Amino acid sequence: MNRLHFSQFATERDLRQAILETGRLCYASGLMLSNNGNISTRLGDDKVVITPSGLCKGRLEIDDLLVIDLAGNLIKADHKRKRKVSSETPLHLEAYRQRPDVRAVIHAHPTHAIALTVADTPFPTDILPEVLEGLGPVPTTRFALPSSDDNALAIRDLIKAHNAVLIRNHGAITVGQDLDEALNHLERVESVAKAVVLAHVIGKVNRLPAEMLEPLNELRKKMSQR
Ligand SMILES: [Zn+2]
Repeated sequence: MNRLHFSQFATERDLRQAILETGRLCYASGLMLSNNGNISTRLGDDKVVITPSGLCKGRLEIDDLLVIDLAGNLIKADHKRKRKVSSETPLHLEAYRQRPDVRAVIHAHPTHAIALTVADTPFPTDILPEVLEGLGPVPTTRFALPSSDDNALAIRDLIKAHNAVLIRNHGAITVGQDLDEALNHLERVESVAKAVVLAHVIGKVNRLPAEMLEPLNELRKKMSQR
């Protein structure tokens, strides 16, 4: 069973299990090391289940997770655990506010994607077919102070029309209909960034032939309409 794939009618317990599983996968694949990153899902239309501040996402337990409203108010937490709302929560809430279609958000610090932003290199759309075919353009934000509400402002306009956004010198945020889709986007961002960084290290970056770009764009549009 793929726990990361869920509908808008999923129970709170199913969503909590999906977040734990996503955390384990992100940790195991190096996308979310140390205490970095946060994972959330919508619960109904106006609540969110989200990881708390300060814990490794690969080793969370079901009662570590919090339920908050779209204003960020804590609605439910295990009082014995004393878990706190992460300072990066506004980033998730901004994505849900701007995208009624989105039911899952992942914020991570993937090394190669961050390296592109540190080197002030835009995420390329014309080097690997999978970007045009499955992801679309991935814009980079301006600088924003980490753990501040400014992070949310920095993604506000970009997240409206993109499923993945790089946060300058900080990380990435991806969204989806469920955590399966949001994680696919995150993995794709990091795998493409890694290939591009390695190509730069080797010294030569060949771009796709211009005549391939339009057919790949069309393929993505067709897939997203299914
Ligand atoms: Zn972060």
